[in-house]
Amino acid sequence: MTAQHDHRRLGRELALFDTDPMIGAGLPYWLPDGAVIRHELEEYVRDLERRAGYRHVYSPVLGKRELYERSGHWAHYREDMFPPMRLGAEEVVLRPSLCPHHAVIYRSRARSYRELPLRLAELGGMYRSELSGVLGGLTRVRAIQLNDGHVFCTPDQVADEAARALELIREVYAVLGIEPVRYRLSLPGEGGKYVAAPELWDRSARLLTEVLEKSGLPFEAQRGEAAFYGPKIDVQIADGAGREATLSTVQVDFHQPEQFGLEYVGADGGRHRPVMVHRAVIGSVERAVAHLIELYGGAFPAWLAPVQLVLLPLSEAELGRAEELAGRCLELGLRVEVAGPEQGSLGARVRAARLAPYQAVIGAREAAEGLVAPRLRDGCRPSPLPADAFVARVAAGVAAREREPSLD
Ligand SMILES: [Zn+2]
Repeated sequence: MTAQHDHRRLGRELALFDTDPMIGAGLPYWLPDGAVIRHELEEYVRDLERRAGYRHVYSPVLGKRELYERSGHWAHYREDMFPPMRLGAEEVVLRPSLCPHHAVIYRSRARSYRELPLRLAELGGMYRSELSGVLGGLTRVRAIQLNDGHVFCTPDQVADEAARALELIREVYAVLGIEPVRYRLSLPGEGGKYVAAPELWDRSARLLTEVLEKSGLPFEAQRGEAAFYGPKIDVQIADGAGREATLSTVQVDFHQPEQFGLEYVGADGGRHRPVMVHRAVIGSVERAVAHLIELYGGAFPAWLAPVQLVLLPLSEAELGRAEELAGRCLELGLRVEVAGPEQGSLGARVRAARLAPYQAVIGAREAAEGLVAPRLRDGCRPSPLPADAFVARVAAGVAAREREPSLD
């Protein structure tokens, strides 16, 4: 990774996010331009999940200690959790994961096999008492926004649901331009970190192996990387320096349904235990955005770009025209700026706006004829075209989440 593409450096230079010792290490805040990227990414994933049959929920970032004792986090994951807060006779903790909340939502009423697979998703906060590592960026943080989801299904549906989750991850990566470095089948290692239920581990590992084999993706099995309650498929990405991290996961879990006594009434009228498929499509929003910042070096696809379109009136005379066009862009939902002559020569303004996917120059001729002279981020300068047609084309490219700006 070149220093130029370090997300911490770009994050500061482009005013995307920052940290402050008054808030604390590992607790970044998002500046307006960074918040735009995050919001667009979150909305994209929510929309995709809706289409894939997920229902979105919200659940609180705190829970009683008993909730995590029940889920197993307290016994197996406690060193990564913030210490509990005493509240009268109770202890509450910042949640280390969303799973227990979703299990509780599942069992909030009786479930029939007809409702399964029940797919619940949430973009929610979770917390990790990270002590070491590089704090100051978005990759090692103490407050994480997780793109989480849990599919509650019958044992017969597990393989299909895990395969669908993997497919969803691959679809998102194709749109975002993210290339995984490898798919990892993460299995338990030695020691007491894992719940003891050998037959369940074997069963889930077999299921995930089948899913990976059917997908035709190359994968490697690795011991010691499983979640404490089950094996998982980890989708690994790397930064420019080759440092690997897990972005997305698919997990099969027989343990938590057992712990929470989850049930559904089957076609036979009897009570059965569902299986939980845990999946994170873009995983931690912080890590996903860090990766995108480094991947694009700040030159984001138009749909993610903080500023999508910069209008450049050549002189004072065209300023009114540019402002009127900016108003129309705003109405179309585009993020637009007018860089007027008070900001310097045209060349200087073009350079200042070099990360914006689209620019449009308005000179005397363009103003008189209702045209703009477009410039694309790659330096391409198509011939002038009617302002309305140009703006409509930009909006269409944004809606289609095109990777590169184009007027074709
Ligand atoms: Zn989960």
